Amino acid sequence: MALSPTPARGRRLLVVTTLLMMGVTNGAQAQAPAAPVTGVPGDDGFAWRTLSGLCDLVGGRPAGSPQMKKAAEWAVATFKEAGFDSVWTEPVTVPVWTRGREWARCTAPVEFDLTMLGLGLSDGTGPDGIEAEVMVVTSFDELEKRGGEANGRIVLFNMPWEGYGRTVAYRSKGASEAAKHGAVACLIRSVTPNSLATPHTGMMRYADGVPHIPAAALTVEDAGRLARLAERGLKPRVKLYMEARNLGDGPCANVVADIRGAKWPEQIVLLGAHLDSWDVGTCAHDDGAGCAMMMAAAQMLKADGQRPARTVRVVLYTAEEIGVYGGRAYRDAHRDEGDRHVAALESDSGAFAPRGFSVEGDSLAVLRVRAMAAPLAWVGADSVTAGGSGADVHPLTDLGVPCLGLRVEGGTYFHYHHSPADNLDKVDPVLLAKDVAAVAGLARALANDPETLPRKLPAQPAPR
Ligand SMILES: [Zn+2]
Repeated sequence: MALSPTPARGRRLLVVTTLLMMGVTNGAQAQAPAAPVTGVPGDDGFAWRTLSGLCDLVGGRPAGSPQMKKAAEWAVATFKEAGFDSVWTEPVTVPVWTRGREWARCTAPVEFDLTMLGLGLSDGTGPDGIEAEVMVVTSFDELEKRGGEANGRIVLFNMPWEGYGRTVAYRSKGASEAAKHGAVACLIRSVTPNSLATPHTGMMRYADGVPHIPAAALTVEDAGRLARLAERGLKPRVKLYMEARNLGDGPCANVVADIRGAKWPEQIVLLGAHLDSWDVGTCAHDDGAGCAMMMAAAQMLKADGQRPARTVRVVLYTAEEIGVYGGRAYRDAHRDEGDRHVAALESDSGAFAPRGFSVEGDSLAVLRVRAMAAPLAWVGADSVTAGGSGADVHPLTDLGVPCLGLRVEGGTYFHYHHSPADNLDKVDPVLLAKDVAAVAGLARALANDPETLPRKLPAQPAPR
């Protein structure tokens, strides 16, 4: 059936409605699509509406960009609307990087377009692009052994997935390792265990004293095809064009909001997540979900009618993706009140089924948190282990603050992570609501327990 054109009157109405919505971007909750009913006790849809607002009305939000500024304004308005007692921003200076236009194409022995994403903080190729024969390796070891072949070539790391922690080394260091051998550009297979032709970006770093060459990620599919062409001895050639630029330092901000404690308001339980993101997709799991969880959990504690005994503070950090600038800036700005922070909990692993918490602390701290999390078995969040917390709160361990992380079932997180596929449709509203219940439950215990968690003593110089 052919679609009939929108009648003029309908079009006018559409324009008026759109303008109205643009004017009230932040306060548009009343017009937001209804949140799905999850059946999770305590869930009023706040987390879903919040995440939907961030993803659909703001979208991707790289640190230092106009979109990040909009995200911070959105966050301030959302906190205020939710009835937080105080809301403010704290300045953070961040490195600003822009992607610009970019493309890559295999030019020989067969011609086809490559699906790619430049890596964050990479330099561009210059206006003429870079075209060269591709040298394919599967590891840094292989590059070392065959280093003499890399000169003047584009090195492609077609490394297998060996878990994020190990595989990500090729994204962060690949360009400089290749440049040491004279390569003119670096490509990597996207850092993911699974692909439906989605490229995955992420931060890279140039080593000191090595030429800066452009770096980009290809899809698993395209990296594999180039590798097979090379295996046939057909010497594939690639042309790479990237307008990426590092623009130097720029202003940005963390957004902070408090629910004031009823009994010990000077003591703070911090709930953290990062508001900045990559510029592709709308970054629903990384880390829009963490932001929505923390905002919803804190709001839930107040909505209970019984204020928490300690202050519950939500910090939405900036510039995690390009080097944890917001996390370090918060630590530095609050150095004198480290003692007031009794615990910090972060979520930055997506909105998947909650499993429990990891604790950066001694075994006593783990036991204490385990007791606090035991009542969260109903939502599956009662497993507590020693381990990391989160990139943004971790700097607070320098001040002795016990730091914790929400642990979730992580089987598919890296399918979406840093890719154009990380959008609201990949988030299960029931699991998001369960994560909120887990965070709210532990935050309530941390805020109300008369005894605080044992603090790690800040490092002291050794006695002489
Ligand atoms: Zn993240």
